[in-house]
Amino acid sequence: MGIRVYQLAKELGLESKELMSRLQKLGIKVSGHMNSLGEDSVSKIKDALKPSAKKEPVKKPAADKKPVLTKKEKVVKPATPVSVPVQKPASSVAVVQAPAPVLAPAPAVAPVVTPVVSGAPQIPKKVILKKFSLTVKDFSQNIGLTVPELIKRLMKRKVFATINQTLEKTVMEEVALELNLSLEFPQSVEEIALTAHNELDDPKELVSRGPVVTFMGHVDHGKTSLLDYIRKTRVAAKETGGITQHIGAYQVQIGEGKVTFLDTPGHEAFTALRARGANATDVVVLVVAADDGVMPQTIEAIDHARAANVPIVVAINKCDLPTANLDRIKTKLAELNLLTEDWGGKTVAIPVSAKTGTGVDTLLEMLLLETDLLELKANLKKPASGVVIEAKLTGERGAVATVLVQNGTLRIGDPVLCGSRWGKIRALWNDRLQTVQEAPPAMPVEILGLSGVPEAGDKFYVLPGVEQAKEIATKRLARKEELGVRATRSHVTLEDLYQQIKEGKIKELKLITKADVQGSLEVLNQIITRLGTEEVKVNIIHSGVGDISESDIMLAAASDAITIGFHVRVDFNAQASAARERVDLRTYDIIYEVENAVRAAMEGLLEPEIQEQMVGKAEVIETFNVPKAGTIAGCKITDGKIHRKALLRVIRGKDVIFKGKIGSLRRFKEDVREVLQGVECGLGIEGFNEIHKGDLLEAYEEIEKERKLARN
Ligand code: GDP
Repeated sequence: MGIRVYQLAKELGLESKELMSRLQKLGIKVSGHMNSLGEDSVSKIKDALKPSAKKEPVKKPAADKKPVLTKKEKVVKPATPVSVPVQKPASSVAVVQAPAPVLAPAPAVAPVVTPVVSGAPQIPKKVILKKFSLTVKDFSQNIGLTVPELIKRLMKRKVFATINQTLEKTVMEEVALELNLSLEFPQSVEEIALTAHNELDDPKELVSRGPVVTFMGHVDHGKTSLLDYIRKTRVAAKETGGITQHIGAYQVQIGEGKVTFLDTPGHEAFTALRARGANATDVVVLVVAADDGVMPQTIEAIDHARAANVPIVVAINKCDLPTANLDRIKTKLAELNLLTEDWGGKTVAIPVSAKTGTGVDTLLEMLLLETDLLELKANLKKPASGVVIEAKLTGERGAVATVLVQNGTLRIGDPVLCGSRWGKIRALWNDRLQTVQEAPPAMPVEILGLSGVPEAGDKFYVLPGVEQAKEIATKRLARKEELGVRATRSHVTLEDLYQQIKEGKIKELKLITKADVQGSLEVLNQIITRLGTEEVKVNIIHSGVGDISESDIMLAAASDAITIGFHVRVDFNAQASAARERVDLRTYDIIYEVENAVRAAMEGLLEPEIQEQMVGKAEVIETFNVPKAGTIAGCKITDGKIHRKALLRVIRGKDVIFKGKIGSLRRFKEDVREVLQGVECGLGIEGFNEIHKGDLLEAYEEIEKERKLARN
């Protein structure tokens, strides 16, 4: 099997799109980035991409000038892994024929390593995998590492997997990259089934689609009222039935265009979907009450929208109130880098009232105008794909999901894969509870016919056949259950920051900062921002006064940011979601500690944190002198257990008099691996013979701390 377009693109440091257009120019036909390329095509493109020294002789640079690379030359340089391969491939001969002595014994899944291009040592060696899903053991054999070596490398990336646990593809790819190997996976059933969705759209088939809008802003500023007002009033006279039913989203006609509103306002919902990998919103309407002005959650909403790179249109609500003060709000907005159009800026801000309806039409028209600039396009002819907005189990209808079609046209009878659910579309309802035959892009519809309830944020795809959908969904479901504790990678952490910088994965360190008072927050932000370098910028995507909340964590999860608190607490939900989403969350009480930690992380000097974990306690009842072995303590385990590999602390009175390793652990002259609570044993301590009757022993393990959870 050849190499796929996206893989080759990655190898060459090009965008798939760019590579495809270059291939096309060479007369090599490709329809999508999943296409396989034969060896001929690969060498053709590689030749074409070589710095064109032979074809067009480049003028010799003047001796005193450094040669300047053209942009093209920079791009075509083969991606060189930055980390030094531990086991540098001696040659590009297939490993099967000439296994290096360090390789593990004959693997269950035979590795086939083929040379990509001879004579180009920096091009990673290819490892063809026969299976898509590999356990730690299988994978270690395929890449010629021992299991402990692999586990060490996994732990470095905060992946704690046991020998029989299945690894995520991205994790395997990262480890391979370190070893200067490139993995080639067999095409999975899933990839084959999704071929049509992965193919780039023919620009000729693209048509404009309406924008999808989310309302955000401070509580009580009128988000719900505005959504309700629009829902109730925007029904053309000839249409029957209002948009009465809450299906989580609705669509209204405005002149020639349509605007879709996500009916769950607020940045929490917005960011929660994003944290699930679903970017459903095209524009954010920031609602600011004219009588109240910019408030903490207004700022939060702005930061959430910006982190998602979604444009903002401002609705200054409650303009019917006599206390409304537009200028004050515009001044505040300007301070937040949202200078309004009438003041010479770019931000559209419309005064509205959800109570009287003033300005709402203008707001809707502006939404259409504003999104014209975004050139939102979709392909009506493609099989549909999109995202689940919400889903529930109903008594009469079974599993019902509201989905937003993002591309293609969804029709009754379509076989769908939706997260780990599958089915055939039995019915489609629009936001007025009317049945429809089909749903084009940007239309929210309720769908019926799924095998179970999917999760909000799950993607759905129409597949060629229902059997495929069933097979993939069933596998996904089984995998989800199997991976109760998922062997997945966490988000960026201070510990792995340097590694990621080195690998070129991070150009920007994103941070969320929270402090107890505004003054400290400003100092903190100043200090942290100053740590940015040419290589890595520091970008504080959100910062605020107050405790760390779940909303902060979701933003961090959605944006791959690290959360730093100074003199603040972490609320319980935030604590729980940080653990669940594997977000690096740290709190400090001394400002220079923050500075030190971030600087050390950026320079790769951050020591992994070692945490002690108590495993058991014992009391020394008697001591014996054993020739050669030294003093042996006859003890009784009073708590937990003691195992052979544990470390020991010897406590006499209130003092720790020795720390060290266990030399021997025996029961009735037999060496044992562990002794449980209530049981007596003989225990020798390496390099320590001064043990006395009555001493207490504490056994503990040192584990690398996965994440420094905040102290509360
Ligand atoms: P949300 O928390 O942002 O969703 O705010 P709501 O839509 O629940 O509105 C909060 C309060 O403000 C409610 O009592 C509304 O009746 C009131 N409200 C909303 N919009 C307007 C408006 O345009 N004018 C006036 N006077 N009150 C409004």
